[in-house]
Order: sequence, then structure tokens, then C-alpha cells
Amino acid sequence: MSQVKILLDEAEIPANWYNVVADMPKAPAPLLGGDGKPVNPESLAAIFPPAIIEQEISRERWIPIPEPVREIYRQWRPTPMFRARRLEAALGTPAKIYYKYEGGSPAGSHKPNTSVPQAYYNRQAGVRRIATETGAGQWGSALAMAGQMFGIEVRVYMVRVSYEQKPFRRSMMEAWGAEVIASPSPRTNSGRHILAQHPDSTGSLGIAISEAVEEAATRADTNYALGSVLNHVLLHQTVIGLEAKKQFEKAGDYPDVIIACCGGGSNFGGVAFPFFADKAAGKNVRLIAVEPESCPTLTRGHYAYDSGDTAGLTPLMLMYTLGRNFVPPSIHAGGLRYHGDSPLVSQLHHEGLVEAIAVPQRATFQAGLMFSRTEGIIPAPESNHAVRVAIDEALACKRSGEGKTIFFNLSGHGNFDMAAYDSFLSGKLEDSSYPAHAIEEALAELPKVKAPGR
Ligand SMILES: *Cc1c(COP(=O)(O)O)cnc(C)c1O
Repeated sequence: MSQVKILLDEAEIPANWYNVVADMPKAPAPLLGGDGKPVNPESLAAIFPPAIIEQEISRERWIPIPEPVREIYRQWRPTPMFRARRLEAALGTPAKIYYKYEGGSPAGSHKPNTSVPQAYYNRQAGVRRIATETGAGQWGSALAMAGQMFGIEVRVYMVRVSYEQKPFRRSMMEAWGAEVIASPSPRTNSGRHILAQHPDSTGSLGIAISEAVEEAATRADTNYALGSVLNHVLLHQTVIGLEAKKQFEKAGDYPDVIIACCGGGSNFGGVAFPFFADKAAGKNVRLIAVEPESCPTLTRGHYAYDSGDTAGLTPLMLMYTLGRNFVPPSIHAGGLRYHGDSPLVSQLHHEGLVEAIAVPQRATFQAGLMFSRTEGIIPAPESNHAVRVAIDEALACKRSGEGKTIFFNLSGHGNFDMAAYDSFLSGKLEDSSYPAHAIEEALAELPKVKAPGR
């Protein structure tokens, strides 16, 4: 009667990933080169293995998960879904709140769901070395772990502000055998260029991506891996939503609203896309992406072609963007500090099928503390954005008397983020105001190319 955890058997780990492209009203816009012409996907072969490139452009609805990947998924999947009964009681809401918990993976977040298949496909293609970037350290640690499992050497360019604020994330990556370098670094042209202009730059994900892509493109023995944004990454993360659908079936319930925090969009896409399939078939379900007020890509950005990195080394993608030169304020939710967003999430938001909300930092920590004190788990600062909006939805139900079913993804735990909680608990944490001027400047530098046929 008072079930708290809804669990699945290991045999119920999905056999296929779900590709949302098959159910989108319009095909995704092509990647463009700097000249405004579509990029030949094969030109990506310098940095990605063939299987990843194929997934990036696939329109198949179901893509099989390789058995060796499912084998490793068993280490922490299926992840539990919880009914947040203690939080519901504390709020006094008639709403039902469910959350899925991805913090039980070895790296403590959802990111190993994609680092493992990415390492697998690289190894399959004979690649023995990968360069990547990391913000708060969650992606870097997930790839370090996966690299170790497949005998791949990993070098991580870590955004300098996190390198200094989160030394234990660095230790984690090193424990899994990766090499970690603070970005911007003097090792790459992109890094040297930034340092010449801003010697004390705190870095950004956009800059760190430039450094890793540059290294992969210029070294024959090295590939590149990205922890979010791209179609294949969102594809891999759909194991979350696919499991959740089975768990709701077991619980005899179905969500009215699905909430996830959104940086590059892989966590949001991972949990929401399998439910989008139902929405496309006529079901009434709301999908809400939550972002920080200080890096409000979906809510305040332009829907335009822009580069995925600061130096402009990646192809141009049609997405919501704040401009590739925008360096977000140093908020604690490092995983949400990205100037752009997944082209798939962006397109669905542009078409009015996905909602977006921006929330201020302090309100997210207030929500995170309430969650910690009722449900026990201390959420990652990124996940607190989803917790905030889930609580707000539940409070709206309290006012209206509606018993809605609210579902959010708890993308990771905050056990490595206690400095951020310390700052909040001691009253030092501030809301950084909306950086209107910096965003305006960065948006003025958007590439002048048009979406073909749009
Ligand atoms: C990286 C990260 C996010 C942001 O994920 P995206 O997929 O880029 O939107 C959210 N939560 C946690 C715990 C993360 O590590």
C-alpha cells in the first residue's frame, strides 16, 4: 500500500535506446560549416568513431544497446524510482511526487549512461586515447571510469573555476586513471588565445571543448567525446525514461508533468523523450526543462546557428544559444553553465512541445535542503533546479486542490558539492543577477548563416 521504491529486475534494462527523431514533427536541421553549407557527417570521422556518427544522424526509432554495454549498465541499472512520500507530507500537497535517482552510478550522476557506450564504440574502432572537457567534473569522472573499463587513456580539460573549487572531483578522475588539465591551458592554440586576452580567465565549457576538440583533431591517435548536447548522447540517456515508463506501469500511474534540469540537455532528453513518444501520439503530458537564471539558454537565448565551442572549431548547430563567447557567472551548478543547448531539445522547445523555466540559485538550494531533510538524499546543485520546480508544481496543486502526478529526475547526488551547501548554509550564497549585458554582447557575434529552408 505504501510502496516507496519502484524497482525493476536487471533483465528489464532496456534492450534498445529510443531515438526521438523518429517522432519529431520536423526533421532536425543539418549541421553547417562556417561557409553555411551542410557538413558531410563523414568529416566528423577525425574525432568520432563510425558507430557514433551513424547514431548522430539516425532516424531509426529503436537502436540496439550492445550487450557489453548492458552488461556494464547492470552495475547500477535499473535505477530506482521513488515515491517522495515524506516530501509530499512535508508540503501538505494532494499531488503525488515521484523521482528517479541516477546518483547511484559509480560516478554519482546520469553521465555514465553515455560514457560507457562512447568508450565501447571507440574501443571497437581501435581508438586507445580520448580527449574531453568537463565543467564541474561529473562528465570527466564518468568518462575516466568508462575509459578505464575499456583500456582507453583519457585526458580531461577541466574548467578552471571548478578545477580550483572542486579538487576532489579531480582526485576522482585521477583515481580512475585520467589526466586532468585546468582550462584554459597553454597547451592548445585555443587555450593560448584566451589566456593572451584574459590571463586570469576562470574558463567555460565552451573554451574547454575547444581545447579538447583541437587536441583530437590534430592528433591522429586521439578521439573526442562529448558528455551532452549531441543527438547520440541524448539517445544513450533514454535508458532513464524507458525504465521510468516501466516503473510507472508497475505503480499503476502515469505522470502529468515531467521535470528535469537542463544544461546541454542530455539529462532532460534522457528522461523526457520516451514520454514525448506518447505526447506525439496524443497523450497530454507536460515536459519542463529547468535552467539557471544566470545561464538562461532556452528562456532568453536566440534560436540560431552557433558553434558548440568558443573557438568555433565544431560545426554550427541550430539551437538556443547565448552566444559562444558568453562566459556564465560562476554558479555552483557547473553542469548547467553552457552557452548552447541540445539541437533536439531546442527544436522541440521552439515548436512549443517542451516548456522551459529559469530559476535563481538560492531558491534551488532552499528546495535541495527541503529534499535532503525529507527524502534523505542530498541532491547535486544541478538537480536542485528540478527539485525546485517539482516543489513549486506540488505547491500549486495544494492551492488548487488538484492531485497531479509529478515526476522529476534526480540526476545526481551532491556529496562532492558540500562547499556549495556550506556557502548556502552560512548565508554567503548569492543570486547572480541576469547578465544582460554580457549576453547581448555575445549574441551580437552570432555567425551570420541561415537555416536552409526554414
Ligand atoms: C552534467 C549534469 C547535469 C546537466 O546535464 P545535461 O545533460 O548537460 O543537461 C545535471 N545534473 C547532474 C548531476 C550533472 O552531472
